Amino acid sequence: MNAEFERLTLPIDGAFTISRGSKSEVETVVVRVSDDGGQTGVGAAAPDPHYGETADTVEAVLPDLLDVVEEVDDPLALDRIERRLERTVRDNPAARAAVSVACHDLATRRLGVPLYRYLGLDADRAPPTSYTVPIDDPDAMGEKAADVVEAGYEILKVKLGTDRDRARMEAVREAAPEATIRVDANEAWTPPEAVRKSEWLADLGVEFVEQPVPAENPAGLRQVHERSALPVAADESCVTLPDVPAVADRVDVVNLKLMKCGGVREAVRMVHAARAHGLEVMLGCMVESTASIAAACHLAPLVDYVDLDGALLLAEDAYEGPSYDGGTLAVPDRPGTGVRPV
Ligand SMILES: [Mg+2]
Repeated sequence: MNAEFERLTLPIDGAFTISRGSKSEVETVVVRVSDDGGQTGVGAAAPDPHYGETADTVEAVLPDLLDVVEEVDDPLALDRIERRLERTVRDNPAARAAVSVACHDLATRRLGVPLYRYLGLDADRAPPTSYTVPIDDPDAMGEKAADVVEAGYEILKVKLGTDRDRARMEAVREAAPEATIRVDANEAWTPPEAVRKSEWLADLGVEFVEQPVPAENPAGLRQVHERSALPVAADESCVTLPDVPAVADRVDVVNLKLMKCGGVREAVRMVHAARAHGLEVMLGCMVESTASIAAACHLAPLVDYVDLDGALLLAEDAYEGPSYDGGTLAVPDRPGTGVRPV
């Protein structure tokens, strides 16, 4: 077996602004793992500085991670590979996720089945994905929402958490009166503010609110959960498996991401752990290439809510695979994750 990686800068279609800041491009590191028969599996890291990773840190640890794959030298030994990746670099989940996705792609290409079939899942059960409306002027957010609905999407994820939250949200609701709307504050509110805002968000027909308060304030999250007019989801508060029981009595939904938890198998474990704690599950992503999101699309039949629009937000991508017609996910019916270079 051998492996290689390549850093790419992908432009975002417009600006992507959330409460923490704005960006117009993303850096990704594509990983390719090949066996001796010439089959190649593809994955990618979408490092998020919020979780301590950059393209530089990913490139720094990938040689050690890819050494693990070559040492194990068995593309089907996915459990052993993921365990040893985690022992080798405990942090750097996006770097580990890239290798995990590439190995799952290679293994299932060798087996001749799509990843979802290998996992025994029914592709038709994947919930439709939401489409993100980033923070912008209220009018621009309304126009964006109208465009997205016009394109056939029925679920919007609206970013809030700066000033004029209510004006922005009202503009979106006016432009998309029928859409299902989820709100993500990305940790921006205080607990009393989150409780107060939940009242008018509920009046505007919002389904639930994601990460209203900082992850560093678990008591505040509990307070919001107890008093909020809306169900509450954890994203920044639920990163790895031990976080699932920790947030179970203070949220209703957990948003899991390959780039936070570090691998396909770990993500599946988190889904089942969340279910055991009575939580609903969302599968999310960063703004990231199809090379990594494709694997998450194969896991979508396991969850209640899907937020896998990260590749749709790019102006250019290096890989193609799943289709998103009006939010309905369809993974390619070919072996592996089904990604191909554009
Ligand atoms: Mg979020």
